[in-house]
Amino acid sequence: MTITRTQVAIIGGGPSGLLLSQLLHRQGIDTVVLERQSRDYVLGRIRAGVLEQGFVQLMREAGCATRMEAEGEQHHGFMIAHQGRMDRVDLQGSANGASVMVYGQTEVTRDLYDARDEMGGEVVHLAENVRLHELTSQHPYVTYEKDGGTHRVDCDFVVGADGFHGVSRKSIPSDVLCEYEKIYPFGWLGVLSNTPPAASELIYARHERGFALCSLRSQVLSRYYIQVPLTDRAEDWSDEAFWSELKKRLPQQVADGLETGPSIEKSIAPLRSFVAEPMRYGNLFLAGDAAHIVPPTGAKGLNSAASDIHYLYQGFLAHYQKGDSAGLENYSQKALARVWKAERFSWWMTNLLHRFPEMSKTDLRLQCADLDYLFSSEAAQASLAENYVGLPY
Ligand SMILES: Cc1cc2nc3c(=O)[nH]c(=O)nc-3n(C[C@H](O)[C@H](O)[C@H](O)COP(=O)(O)OP(=O)(O)OC[C@H]3O[C@@H](n4cnc5c(N)ncnc54)[C@H](O)[C@@H]3O)c2cc1C
Repeated sequence: MTITRTQVAIIGGGPSGLLLSQLLHRQGIDTVVLERQSRDYVLGRIRAGVLEQGFVQLMREAGCATRMEAEGEQHHGFMIAHQGRMDRVDLQGSANGASVMVYGQTEVTRDLYDARDEMGGEVVHLAENVRLHELTSQHPYVTYEKDGGTHRVDCDFVVGADGFHGVSRKSIPSDVLCEYEKIYPFGWLGVLSNTPPAASELIYARHERGFALCSLRSQVLSRYYIQVPLTDRAEDWSDEAFWSELKKRLPQQVADGLETGPSIEKSIAPLRSFVAEPMRYGNLFLAGDAAHIVPPTGAKGLNSAASDIHYLYQGFLAHYQKGDSAGLENYSQKALARVWKAERFSWWMTNLLHRFPEMSKTDLRLQCADLDYLFSSEAAQASLAENYVGLPY
């Protein structure tokens, strides 16, 4: 067995793990990232695309913002199509001039990997059978298998940034962990295509056939979603069937102008609200999807991961540079306070815009009343905008 030592062992080389590793390394704090998959596999996952300003700021602080600032798009508003109308949510006017950055998670991850390479950061890919040990002691360690050998990393702290299906959360005893979960009775079928976007801003559509979203990654790369039953499989949806269904759920003028093309990626994501408490167990800290999941309506998943990383980064800095551990002690409480607000917002927006199978005619009228209220009240729009651009850390 080989034995190495680091200060912070990070499980998971997704955006959370890489961002924390990069931020800490720039401050002279040593990390090792253990990732189960290959780099190509991680970069092949098409996911988030809307970044809050807090995330953008962290990327700047990590020294990884150059390409994002050149190629990403600042969005100052988005559209909601409902009841034959299209209303705009003005982020700039309603949220004190704030905006969001449209820049794909794949590109964020690529920029973080490039930065890790440039600094000589250690990211171990294809690390199998990762196991966490002695988490409540002062000498935790992590073991993994690679190339037929077993390896051990001794460390001060372990960060579990290994997503919803990772090993870190499962390493916390079940009598310590409390899990809250809500599974929605539908998923999002997403298509990525090399076509210009349907509009310059995102369009969220509530429709009697189900929810739809026109999103984008750039002016030549579009991302579209439609709500589908959980029983559907992506391979059962031809491109033609997808475009046809999408057009039916969009306002006529948007559908008429929609440029379609072959899908370059097609997948179904189930919708789930999930929180695990606490986010700290001994010297293990959970971050990102390892601790919480939101339905993608409102784009809070990656952004909530970023706020965890902010709190952890500040906590580790104070611990290593000033000997002050209060930030790490309070991490779970602070991170969860913001996470639950993001959970609430994503749940509310999902309820506002989706067609639930069991909805009665009363439920439908209430949903319409919620939308009517939203677009008749500046206060309601300001609340939506405040949450959409991201609550303060
Ligand atoms: C369709 C879709 C659309 C989305 N849209 C948005 C959006 O617009 N805005 C937004 O903010 N969020 C969005 N999200 C959510 C966002 O993608 C996630 O919140 C984000 O990926 C979380 O990052 P993470 O690093 O915490 O976890 P992950 O990205 O899941 O990364 C975890 C990493 O850990 C690795 N791993 C897992 N198990 C192990 C193990 N045992 N050992 C070692 N490594 C392991 C995995 O391979 C993975 O690379 C969307 C998600 C989906 C599915």
